[in-house]
Amino acid sequence: MFDTAAFADHESVHLFHDKATGLRAIVAIHSTALGPAAGGCRMWNYVDGEEAMRDALRLSEGMSYKNAIADLPLGGGKGVIWGDSKTQKSPELFRAFGQAVDSLNGKYWTAEDVGISPDDMKYVAEQTRFVAGLNDGEAASGDPSPVTALGVFKGIEATAMRALNADSLDGVRVAVQGVGHVGGYVCSYLAKAGAHLTITDINQESLKLISEQTGATIVAPDEIYDIDADVFSPNALGAVINDDTLSRLKVKAIAGGANNQLATADMGEKVRQQGILYAPDFVINGGGIINVASEISGVFSTPWVESKVETLTETLGQILDQSLKENRPSSDIALEIAKQRIEAAKN
Ligand code: NAD
Repeated sequence: MFDTAAFADHESVHLFHDKATGLRAIVAIHSTALGPAAGGCRMWNYVDGEEAMRDALRLSEGMSYKNAIADLPLGGGKGVIWGDSKTQKSPELFRAFGQAVDSLNGKYWTAEDVGISPDDMKYVAEQTRFVAGLNDGEAASGDPSPVTALGVFKGIEATAMRALNADSLDGVRVAVQGVGHVGGYVCSYLAKAGAHLTITDINQESLKLISEQTGATIVAPDEIYDIDADVFSPNALGAVINDDTLSRLKVKAIAGGANNQLATADMGEKVRQQGILYAPDFVINGGGIINVASEISGVFSTPWVESKVETLTETLGQILDQSLKENRPSSDIALEIAKQRIEAAKN
């Protein structure tokens, strides 16, 4: 593990096995310098343990930076359960995972991620209090997507303002990839602000619904990169900014909620050289973790969440300004700031 490329001086990595329920889980704690490590748990049918480990290491490091840039009193961690979320879920499995989380005594807070729902987390919550993203309970924060989308919308405004010299999104043409939980809400906000939308998804029902609600034009999934638009907003998949798609994009800005948008770290510089202003994904999509952080604090507060999203939007603006001023990729600058905050807390 210490030699894998994904190992980034993680503080600790915990492996859990429960024969009775078939639980095989990893909790990777990248940093607790800013507070208890927080990050969702993913259930995925990995090819092997090495792949599961790599995912846990990579995702937990990412959470350290996402939490730091959102100025939250939280470190970075992530859980992964190795298994098929369609066939291998059971209340007992999640209770066993709850016991695993509880054994870390609050060093790691879990929540749902890919493959896991609030309904599954209910069983985790029977065994530990270090769980968030619940639908019920005194401080329950529920679905984070609307808050993620609010942050993404404000981030699109901040990016367009700088890239297009636009003081509003009225008449700005936005190409939206993915109209699921986050993308759907983003489209509503954009339409209300007067933006002209072109949307794509692989789910025809969602497309029809969002198009009816917002008047958006629908295109096929692969056509979204070729649209004559001002802003490209990825809200579906990772690695969508790569050499192939970049050569096709005609936009001046990329700003969307999807995680891990850049296929490789050097895409940040390539995007910049093409004259595109990029809102780093882990900055613009921090609204969801802010929502979860409010629940972790013990008292859910909408005004606190909104003020944190506001501050995060200001941070994004500063990152974009610095990128334009210093002719350096915004993704590098965002990472530097997050790392500095973690180092400062360590010292
Ligand atoms: P979701 O599953 O509700 O939505 C994703 C949408 O993308 C779906 O409608 C899906 O059909 C569509 N899609 C899949 N493949 C596609 C393709 N090839 N082309 C076009 N569309 C495609 O998920 P979500 O919760 O809306 O999350 C979207 C992205 O935002 C993910 O990358 C997620 O990691 C990230 N994110 C979500 C949150 C949150 O609060 N939900 C927070 C931070 C980051």
